[in-house]
Amino acid sequence: MKQIKDKNFVPFIESVALQARIKELAQQVNKDYEGKNPLLIGVLNGSFMFIGDLFKSIDIECEVTFIRVSSYQNTESTGQVKQILGLKEDIKNRHVIIVEDIVDTGMTMQEVLGQLASQKPASIKILTLLYKPEALKVPLKVDYVCFEIEPKFVVGYGLDYDGFGRNLDAIYVLEEEK
Ligand code: 5GP
Repeated sequence: MKQIKDKNFVPFIESVALQARIKELAQQVNKDYEGKNPLLIGVLNGSFMFIGDLFKSIDIECEVTFIRVSSYQNTESTGQVKQILGLKEDIKNRHVIIVEDIVDTGMTMQEVLGQLASQKPASIKILTLLYKPEALKVPLKVDYVCFEIEPKFVVGYGLDYDGFGRNLDAIYVLEEEK
């Protein structure tokens, strides 16, 4: 059990299991993208630890870059607008893999996918560490998944609770209130 701020977090996916599955996924990427020089686009902050480990196990020619997604309230509608920040690369005709920490409602990835797809990459896929299929609220194809999980709040291995817990080398789940 870990105490982060005022909450208890229970061990959920241990480090050894994470690393083994990440290696498996990297092998899949090696196979699917051989000769294609894919561009991995990590979504900060949550994906930083995951993409570091994944990238070390990808042994084909490839590149990596990072984006941030900022959300703000549109004054003319009730919807949240998501803006992609930090992408300097020209992704036209590139094979793009978006690397995310966790897909929850899927809204972030749906928006990012749409905006990047409009720049006409050769192909574009989503690769995520964690995926909560039961929480999905929009139609979204998640192409590569390390672990499918129940719709619970998790921290560790890059994921935070109020800024903390990103440095943990395993995934923990928030203990239910009694
Ligand atoms: P979505 O747009 O899919 O609902 O949300 C995606 C983002 O919400 C993730 O990139 C992550 O920042 C945050 N998020 C969703 N679920 C969790 C969770 O269980 N733990 C943490 N730490 N962040 C989450």
